[in-house]
Amino acid sequence: MRARINRWTSARRNLIFSNKIRASLIQPHFLVAGENIDQPIAGMPGINRQSVDILEKTIDSDMKIGLSSHMLFLVMDEANKDSTASYASNPSSPLHKAVRSLKDKYGDEITIMTDLCLCTGTDHGHCGIVKGNRIDNDETVHELVKIGISHAKAGADYISASDMMDGRVEQLRKELEKEKHHSTGIMSYSVKYASSFYGPFREAAESSPKFGDRRSHQMDVRSGYSEAIMEAQTDESEGADIIMVKPGLPYLDVLREVADAVVRPVAVYNVSGEYSMVMASNPTVDQRRAMVCEILYAFKRAGADIIVTYHAREAITENWV
Ligand SMILES: [Zn+2]
Repeated sequence: MRARINRWTSARRNLIFSNKIRASLIQPHFLVAGENIDQPIAGMPGINRQSVDILEKTIDSDMKIGLSSHMLFLVMDEANKDSTASYASNPSSPLHKAVRSLKDKYGDEITIMTDLCLCTGTDHGHCGIVKGNRIDNDETVHELVKIGISHAKAGADYISASDMMDGRVEQLRKELEKEKHHSTGIMSYSVKYASSFYGPFREAAESSPKFGDRRSHQMDVRSGYSEAIMEAQTDESEGADIIMVKPGLPYLDVLREVADAVVRPVAVYNVSGEYSMVMASNPTVDQRRAMVCEILYAFKRAGADIIVTYHAREAITENWV
């Protein structure tokens, strides 16, 4: 446990401790290989897959409006996928390049979260190393730690562990310490349900499993508060710096329970399916403002310190919050 991690930079302090909603928003981005790629994602109007050069321009304009917290997802070419997601720790991947160049340019003014899970890079699309037709937890953790360390070396502020394997926070924290990344944080998806609201994201990240589903590691949607609290407190005790609840809207009650049960800051992920539901009603700007504000207030009321949302850019640009 290193309490200073969340205080390390002005950008981290603003994200975590400000009482203004606009400061607590994180914008997700999808990164692809190549140049000059700015590809819309069906089902998520306004959200594109981008190559590093275009992402840099997008984040330049985000930084100018005061949107300084960014979560990066790597969308990998099929040719680079294999059974262990080995390319995910390659320092020349678009994600590593983007982190290095953004941290070079903005230093402590930007907060970058890098997504950590194997599903982005496995040829079968599962979140772990598959043995038979099951995911092997401990071998998966071994691979996750390798990838996480490579993100830390590139300069990520927080490793955003979305995999839901047991024990990965502890192993990652140990290795970060060993490699002297004392100021790199872990944002843990502690309470992540096997939700049906992830559909548009899986299309965006091309990360759908080729067989089976994710119910052997993500939480059962029927599960009650005690399991959520157990997961959150376990990650906290293993050294997570931020505890995440995902999805957001169907789990506001869980968010409240978790926020009351942990000491560390709590984030909520307003997921792709929730975003798509708002956008699919073709709201006018005024209607969108009203809907988005209502959603963000609900997250705050339920105890979220941090909100990951595809609405971040518009909410800040239009001064909705
Ligand atoms: Zn995954």
